[in-house]
Amino acid sequence: MRKKIVAGNWKMNMDFDEGIKLIENIILKINLKASLINTNETGVILAPPFILLQKASELCLDNQTISIGAQNCSQHEKGAYTGEISAAMIKSTGANYVIIGHSERRKYFHENDETLGKKVEIVLENNLLPIFCCGEVLSERESGRHFEVVKKQLEETIFKFKKNDFQKIVVAYEPVWAIGTGVTASPEQAQEMHKFIRELIRNNFDKEIAEQTTILYGGSCNAKNAVQLFSNPDVDGGLIGGASLKADDFVEIICSIEN
Ligand code: PEP
Repeated sequence: MRKKIVAGNWKMNMDFDEGIKLIENIILKINLKASLINTNETGVILAPPFILLQKASELCLDNQTISIGAQNCSQHEKGAYTGEISAAMIKSTGANYVIIGHSERRKYFHENDETLGKKVEIVLENNLLPIFCCGEVLSERESGRHFEVVKKQLEETIFKFKKNDFQKIVVAYEPVWAIGTGVTASPEQAQEMHKFIRELIRNNFDKEIAEQTTILYGGSCNAKNAVQLFSNPDVDGGLIGGASLKADDFVEIICSIEN
């Protein structure tokens, strides 16, 4: 049975104290709703800004449900890359996951498939788990090229890895037109693309790996629409931006996964 995941991408929000308060609040609310969350099947990932990784890991150390992730990492191992954070540094904070290829990284920081492939490689080398984002922009969907675009994004990056490594990757389908816009993919659109991605994984690797891969949906997912999105057979949870900054909403989204 593949793992279901709800991951919160805080982006560049929350200072140190605000972040600690939010984490404590999320832990409290998850504990209050513990009976609604099947911790054997569902994992929660918090991806705060780098400054909070170590403290977040400490706060969640005894929590069986919550893991910590970074939002990005350098493709380089170490050295003269001012301002960058390496995978080894992330590992040393106690975090376990790294989001790679978020559309904001692709758009604002010009990260291409080659860079993203290197980032996934270095994340895996440091025994961290990548959450790899893919997804088309609006014009690509409107011109009917969304399947082709997502296929290429996967083929040029994570499909180049061997089975053993690929199995460690969580895939996040995030249609760019849905991210932070309040426009969500319909449950049908999400299921259609997730099914397509799973078929691609089956063709590139095998049936067993396709069945095991967790594929998350991201893009204006909130406490109101999560149940419908997560009820699709190929949608294994969500990568949540805006709604992950409010403990009540985020925990409600986590609870939606069991419905
Ligand atoms: C994201 O940034 O990964 C995301 C899904 O954002 P939002 O939920 O705010 O659309």
